[in-house]
Amino acid sequence: MENCLFCKIVAGQIPSAKVYEDDQILAFRDIAPQAPTHILVIPKEHIGSVAEVTEENASLVAHIFTVIPRIARAEGLAGGYRVVSNCGPDAGQTVPHLHFHILGGKPLTTEMA
Ligand code: AMP
Repeated sequence: MENCLFCKIVAGQIPSAKVYEDDQILAFRDIAPQAPTHILVIPKEHIGSVAEVTEENASLVAHIFTVIPRIARAEGLAGGYRVVSNCGPDAGQTVPHLHFHILGGKPLTTEMA
């Protein structure tokens, strides 16, 4: 999608520190990490947020969730990690392209809001 930051990363128009890529999804390091390990996993296809997940694109989301544990293992997150997806302005979503944050590498706070 035109003017979507993460679509530009998928297209290689904006550089990223890639940690995983296949034909459907891309994972790269967050530019402003909130934890020692902070990776974003995105579908290459533009989906705005969790609010736009449908029966038609749900297999893409399922694929992301099979890759997340592989990335976590490769990153050595043996102590655990958090997977977060902010959906919409009240949740603080700043990039309107579906993405899942993988956060880990230290004990995380239990605050949810
Ligand atoms: P959210 O606030 O949940 O929409 O998450 C968007 C995330 O994208 C934030 O954690 C940003 O730090 C991250 N981000 C923004 N621009 C880039 C970029 N060019 N490369 C990597 N991460 C980015």
